Formats: sequence, structure tokens, C-alpha cells
Amino acid sequence: MYGVNFSVRFHTLTSQFLNRVQFQISINNKTRQLSSSLISFQTGSCKAKGAKCYDVVVVGGGIIGTGTALKLKQKLPQLSIAIVEKENCVAIHQSGRNSGVIHAGMYYKPGSLRAELCVKGMLEMYKYCEANNIPHKRNGKIIVATTPQEVKWLEDLMNRGFKNCVPGLEMLDQGQIKDVEPHCVGLKAIYSPYTGIINFADVCHHFAAKFKELKGHIYTNFRVVDLKPTPEGGGSTKQDCSNYPISVVGDKKVLHAGFVLSCAGLYADEIAKLTDKCVDQQIIPFRGTYYLLCEKKQHMVKGNIYPVPNPSLPFLGVHFTPKMDGSVWCGPTAALAFRKEGYKATDFDGKEFCDMVKFQGLRSFVFKNFTSNVIEILKSTSKRAQLIELRKYIPTINASDLLPGPSGVQAQAMDSCGQLVEDFAFISSNDRILHCLNCPSPAATASIAISEYIANKVECSLKQLH
Ligand SMILES: Cc1cc2nc3c(=O)[nH]c(=O)nc-3n(C[C@H](O)[C@H](O)[C@H](O)COP(=O)(O)OP(=O)(O)OC[C@H]3O[C@@H](n4cnc5c(N)ncnc54)[C@H](O)[C@@H]3O)c2cc1C
Repeated sequence: MYGVNFSVRFHTLTSQFLNRVQFQISINNKTRQLSSSLISFQTGSCKAKGAKCYDVVVVGGGIIGTGTALKLKQKLPQLSIAIVEKENCVAIHQSGRNSGVIHAGMYYKPGSLRAELCVKGMLEMYKYCEANNIPHKRNGKIIVATTPQEVKWLEDLMNRGFKNCVPGLEMLDQGQIKDVEPHCVGLKAIYSPYTGIINFADVCHHFAAKFKELKGHIYTNFRVVDLKPTPEGGGSTKQDCSNYPISVVGDKKVLHAGFVLSCAGLYADEIAKLTDKCVDQQIIPFRGTYYLLCEKKQHMVKGNIYPVPNPSLPFLGVHFTPKMDGSVWCGPTAALAFRKEGYKATDFDGKEFCDMVKFQGLRSFVFKNFTSNVIEILKSTSKRAQLIELRKYIPTINASDLLPGPSGVQAQAMDSCGQLVEDFAFISSNDRILHCLNCPSPAATASIAISEYIANKVECSLKQLH
């Protein structure tokens, strides 16, 4: 019954099995009665008394939700699929507020899903953009070491890149750095010719438009507040209950679903907890703020200029990123935010803050990484602190060259021991629900490969329901 094997890399919470039993029993009793649209994959959406029914409902209109909905529709056109998004448009949160870098894949642990899907997804992203005329540029990147310690880390990073099969990597010496980036200084650098830039919101809108062309439905202004078994009576026919046993309850509307896929980004944990009270991971929001390089200095940055990441910290460090519109972004920092969609340092939500403080994992994380957390918070609020970092690479930049810029908040899953979850992570509450619990960077780069990966899993689950 619970035999959906999402591979070893899927994070399954089998030890918490009993805590889900109530939800599952009612769903599974209904599953047993299946005759069903899901089995034969032959439905369109049907309107039951009052509530529409879909074979699959995807929660979240970010790049992962829209990408996967599109992939599913392309693989199984006969399925009725709806995306529900709480905002009035797709790509409002992480997918529309990020650095816009198409990563080549050297940072991630060899053998991890992140490494595999980043390299694969990067190549697919270029293909997709070329085929669909989505503006992008393969403008390359250098990762620059400025101290002997960083040279050592850089060499380790290069080996990681080779293990991950990142194409085209080269090691540059001081003189070669100048050939690529005349204004940049450093001892050594990795050159990655496959790194590029894009506006991922364009990609997400493209996925959504293609999905709609294939008769997929997108409900905006639909905030999911509950997932529960479809009640018999109360507007639902007996057949709805067996074919579409999950009620996706929005603040204004209800849909009935045969399968629910949650891609809710910063709220992925809250959606997961609707069906699995014992999810032991929590999404911790990390705010990244950027400065904009003033126009007269933009010529100093040709491609992406990155620091060597400190292996003991989970983020890439502040970098220079040219954007498709010609501007240059400097950042981001990675400071703990006090609100999930808190784009300003002063944004605060009492309930979300209490949930974070109550979480043992976050308390351990803050305790273990106290100094680096304080430094990041300082960097995110102090222009001077960020300038010191940026001048290591381009020393001729001054405070007056940095103008206030945008910000984004990254959803990062953390476990109850205070470890940041490194890999992409998915949990299945039962054979009809899959939660994408951890899709941080480079998930936008990897979105096409991740979507294919998830769509295969959903297809497999639907077949197993047979
Ligand atoms: C500052 C920053 C820089 C980054 N830089 C890069 C980069 O250069 N390259 C890269 O590859 N990646 C980068 N990333 C990561 C990348 O942006 C994300 O990994 C990716 O966008 C995640 O997509 P998503 O669809 O999972 O989440 P999101 O885009 O956040 O989408 C989730 C959606 O779910 C909706 N939702 C949430 N709760 C509900 C609910 N209850 N009901 C209905 N809808 C709901 C939200 O409104 C949202 O639209 C960066 C991220 C940040 C924050």
C-alpha cells in the first residue's frame, strides 16, 4: 500500500509512519474503491457539485510547480491538472527574486541529486531557451581565490567540478584572470564557460503559458489552507470520493484531487505538515540583499565573478552578476530572515518567528554558527561590510558606486539537529501526495531536470495506484 519507492535519495519518514495513519486510512479506503480516472488516465476535469476535480493538483506556481505540471501534461496529456498559486501571478517569490545565474554545477556534492540535476538541467535550460527564444547569455564565470587558503579550497572545488562532469572548466593564473576580467584581482581562478545568465521568471511564465496551451488550469489567488480527505455528502458524490479522494482546500475555493504535488517553496514545510504532523524538517528563510553597481562602473564586470565558498558555510558568498538588462547586481548576503517572505530587514511575522524560535533545529544552528550568522546579518544591513567583500575582487569599487538593490528569500530546509539539508529533498505522505521539501539553489537552473525527475515519480505513483 505504501510501496511508493522514491529511491534512496528521496527522504522518507518511515519512522513517523504512525502519525500519518489517520489521514492515510481515509484516503486509502477510498483508493481501494478505485475504478478510476487515474488508472486509465482518461479524464478531463470534472465538475462535481460545487467543487472541480482534477487528476493532479500542483500547489505552488514557482518554476518547480509550473515546470513539473508542464512535464506531466506533456507526458500524460489525458490527465487533468491544475496549479494553485496563492499570489495573483506565477514566479512572485524565489523564482522571480534570485541572482538569475545558470549554474554549471561544480559546487554540489558528487553523487547528489543537486550535482546530477544541475549539470543536466543547465544543458537542458540552454536548449529550452534557444528553442523558445527566451533571452539568456552564456557569459561564463570565474571563481577567484584571493588568499593561499582559498587557493587550496579552489583546487578542491575544481576536483569536485571534474567529478560532477561540469564541462569546460579551466584553472587560470593571475595573468589569465586579467584576460577574462581586466578589473578583477586574484591569485588563481576557475573559469567556467558554461555558466550563464537569465531571468528565471521568464522561464516560469513560459512554462505556465505552455501548460495552459495544453489545457492545464492555473488558479491564482488560491491559498491552500488544508489538505483533507474528500467528504462524502457535503457536495461530493461517491464517485468523487473514490476518484478524487483529496480535498485541496483554499481560502475561497475547494478542488478535489486524485494526487497532490506540493511545490510551495518557502511554505513547503507547512503544506507537508497538513498531511504529516511529524515532518521533522522546517523551512528556514535566508534573505539575500543585493546592491546595484552604478552605471559608470558596469563595464568593469564582463561575466560572473564569484568568491571561493568557504566549505564550512552553505552559501556561495557575495558575487558580481551582470543581468540581462545590462545592470550588475552585487550580492547576495544570506542572513536569517524573521519572516518567510520578508524581503526587508525589518519585515517580521509574529507567528512565523515563534515557529522558528520554537524549532530546536534553528536554535542549534544559531548556537553552532553564531559568529557567521552575526557576520551575515551585519553584511546584510551594512553597506561597508559588503563593500569590503566586493573589493577583494574589484578593489576600485567605492561605497558611492553601490546603490540599493532588490532582495530575495531562499527556502532552505533544516533538520531538527540544526543541519541544513544539503540535497534536494522530497517526502511522500502517502501514495497520493508528494511534497518537494527542499529545492534551494540551483533548483532554478535545474528546474527542467527536476521537473522530469518529479514527473517520473508522479507517473510511477499513479501507475501503482492501479
Ligand atoms: C536570493 C536568491 C538567489 C538565488 N539565485 C539562484 C541562481 O542564481 N540560480 C539558481 O539556479 N537558483 C537560484 N536561487 C534558487 C531558486 O530561485 C529557487 O531554488 C527556485 O526558484 C525554487 O523554485 P520553487 O518553485 O521551488 O519555489 P518558489 O518560486 O518560491 O515557488 C513556490 C510558490 O508556492 C506558492 N505557495 C506557497 N504556499 C502556498 C499555498 N499555501 N497555497 C498556494 N500557493 C502557495 C508561493 O506563492 C510561490 O509562488 C536563488 C534563490 C534566492 C532566494
